[in-house]
Amino acid sequence: MSHVDLLPVVKEFISKDHGNFIEGQEYISAGSSKIAAIDPAVGESICLVSSATAEEVDLAVERARKAFKGVWAETSPAQKGLLLNRLADLIELHGEELAQIESLCSGKSIHVSRAIEVGQSAAFLRYYAGWATKINGETISPSFPSMAGERYTAFTRREPVGVVAGIVPWNFSLMIGIWKIASALVTGCTVVIKPSEYTPLTLLRIAQLALEAGVPKGVINIVNGDGVVGQRLTSHPGISKVSLTGSVPTGKAVGKNAMDANLTRVTLELGGKNPAGLLEDVDVDMAVAGLILGAYTHQGQICASPERIFVHRSRIDEVIQKMVQGLQQMKIGSPLDEAVNFGPLANKAHYEKVLGFCEYARNQGNVIYGGKPIDRPGYFMEPTIVLAKDRHDRLLHEETFGPITCFLPFDDEEELIDLMNDSEFGLAASIWTNNLSKAFRLVPRIEAGTVWVNMHTFLDPAVPFGGVKGSGIGREFGSAFIDDYTELKSVVVRY
Ligand code: NDP
Repeated sequence: MSHVDLLPVVKEFISKDHGNFIEGQEYISAGSSKIAAIDPAVGESICLVSSATAEEVDLAVERARKAFKGVWAETSPAQKGLLLNRLADLIELHGEELAQIESLCSGKSIHVSRAIEVGQSAAFLRYYAGWATKINGETISPSFPSMAGERYTAFTRREPVGVVAGIVPWNFSLMIGIWKIASALVTGCTVVIKPSEYTPLTLLRIAQLALEAGVPKGVINIVNGDGVVGQRLTSHPGISKVSLTGSVPTGKAVGKNAMDANLTRVTLELGGKNPAGLLEDVDVDMAVAGLILGAYTHQGQICASPERIFVHRSRIDEVIQKMVQGLQQMKIGSPLDEAVNFGPLANKAHYEKVLGFCEYARNQGNVIYGGKPIDRPGYFMEPTIVLAKDRHDRLLHEETFGPITCFLPFDDEEELIDLMNDSEFGLAASIWTNNLSKAFRLVPRIEAGTVWVNMHTFLDPAVPFGGVKGSGIGREFGSAFIDDYTELKSVVVRY
């Protein structure tokens, strides 16, 4: 049996109710409503978390503002980088504890929690820490005419926008929370983070670890709650920027609120309906292995997962047959069982939504594999493959955010590009071919923020990530995030 035993520290953490984290202090207001963190593998409550009251949201923003103007402004860039590196060290030191808590409340395989939630969080923090000392403006020679022999010079400064509201989804609550914390802190901003109501636990632990690392009180604050709390936070006049990762409808609502509140800046990392195009010369074994990894890890609940798979007609039978063989080998079970690689969906509402897509596919008679709930406690369903009835099939257009891939054959590359771009989304895409010259010619024609060639769903802190079309506004990672978290001030000097 390879079931992981919960660490004593994890048992202790979940034995208590939790609150909000404001200026280094935990707030559990007597009058606030409670949110149950549910273990999706059994559908039972793990512990309760207090939803932030309106007063607590105001307090968190006020304390974040105080830290922004005070202690964080006085912390040197080098020291900021050092603190992020220390937090990365502590995340690794407490890695197993964080991974277990995250798997418990998100249904994520313990391997994925260890490697991505913990491992990638530390890696992203270290990458961002390096930027702390490298955020600079430029020197410019203006062309003003000189009337009396005077001269001019100009330079730009990158100044932090202020307090950032970070709104985090439930699929990678720890790592996505870290993206927002790291981008904000390294540019000199402070943050108020609202985790998803479904996965509130690990970011509370991160806030404690950040204090231990030496990040001053008030720099990182966490308020819990549902969309109403998120709305209150993102429309708060003390917020200078909103960074949301979530669905398109939430992104549109948040964008409007932020604009109305104060022309508040937004970065919106939204959903996707990501295509993979397998050309005639594809290496089928490589593509199938990559697509199974990309589409079924964390039960497909990854924004960049391939959900639409277009295969050259001459290869589609072989690809589907090998996909089915791959899925048959998946071990379904508890996320805390190290032998398992496919667990439950993360919460009941989402489970029911994804099953609705399966029911639709079953009614159309085009399920090739899976498509049914699994009869056991918790929110388990079969990994699923569907053949689209035609290019208008809703499974080729609506984001399922679950373990469902939808296949359609194509005959030539013009048709492939047309199919790949036939979507309101534009987050990510992949091309699978042995002919790199062909791939390079197709890449500029694909409407997506990221195009992978012979791979899918790999994020790296050095490579910018974000969506085009309905998939969002702005970029995270690389140097691209700096534009979004700073204001550019021009200084012109006459001498
Ligand atoms: P949601 O849009 O439902 O929620 C995202 C966050 O926004 C949650 O914290 C949610 O709170 C909060 N929220 C909901 N309504 C509002 C509001 N009116 N104002 C402010 N905040 C609000 O997304 P999910 O959590 O269901 O995550 C899945 C979605 O996220 C998918 O569409 C996926 O593609 C996308 N995603 C995009 C990524 C990217 O990088 N582009 C990466 C990961 C996911 P609560 O949950 O408590 O209701």
